[in-house]
Amino acid sequence: MKRMLVRLWQSRWTPACFVLLLGLGYYGAKRFDQRYIHRESYDLPTDLLIRGNPDLREVALTIDDGPYGKTTSEILDTLRKEDVKATFFVVGRHVDEHPDLVRQMMAEGHEVGNHTYTHPRLTQITLQQARVELEECEDAVFRATGAHMDLMRPPGMNYDERLLHLAQDMGYTTVHWNAVAGDYLPVKPEMIMKRILWQTHPGSVILLHDTEETSQALPRLIERLKSDGYRFVTVTQMLARLPRPVFLASNAGAVPLTTETKPEPTVKRHRAVKAKPRSAAKTPGTEDAPTWDGGNQDEESILVRLENQRFAVYAEA
Ligand SMILES: [Zn+2]
Repeated sequence: MKRMLVRLWQSRWTPACFVLLLGLGYYGAKRFDQRYIHRESYDLPTDLLIRGNPDLREVALTIDDGPYGKTTSEILDTLRKEDVKATFFVVGRHVDEHPDLVRQMMAEGHEVGNHTYTHPRLTQITLQQARVELEECEDAVFRATGAHMDLMRPPGMNYDERLLHLAQDMGYTTVHWNAVAGDYLPVKPEMIMKRILWQTHPGSVILLHDTEETSQALPRLIERLKSDGYRFVTVTQMLARLPRPVFLASNAGAVPLTTETKPEPTVKRHRAVKAKPRSAAKTPGTEDAPTWDGGNQDEESILVRLENQRFAVYAEA
């Protein structure tokens, strides 16, 4: 026995086996933790979405930091081709530079959330400054689209209890992520794929950034996740399908399609339904009409809006 242990110890394969066992142990523990221990999806006292419903094979694709121009357009093209709806957490000063892209996001059925005006670490500034950051981003998106936001993600996911309560007071649900590619640094598209696929589970909120590498990785990543049986939902849809559902009005479709942003017809026809807005104050009415100079509301654009309002109705039901 002793000799066997000594031989095992001296074998050149021992370190490799040890590392392999350690890796398998870590993976197993993580899966067990996600499956049986950290199953909570939503923290009600702070309105924080931690993850989607772990019993549903669906994921929310979230794309942060844009809009940037070329990469955003490429990402929107891919999403349209793949018929996937995502949630964009936009930075207010970039919204002011590319208001047309934010309109296009909403027009094509994506959701837009608040990611501050200048992307500071919110716990490193005062609470009052954090409020101004969120308000200024909200104003920039409203200027561009006439729509409000109900979702917020702090830059660098840097938050504390006070910040979560501030966001909550301002009417936001804070959105965490659980699959991350580290693509805010230069990283090869293959690596983005690998990292995301490794971390994605049913109910994952996937974090990507509005970068060139990500836009290159996106088509194959979506294809692979689809072939793994995942369905893509927006964050609002994910919230409405939690074990204890949380219902928010979505701003997807808040802007009608214009001729320039009109996608290929992938829209399913639905019976017209009227959505009940969550709160009158948050619905752009006649007094706070959109400031954008939109195009014609042709039949298809109206159907797209109805398609999205259907989710609002579903959420209310
Ligand atoms: Zn960010």
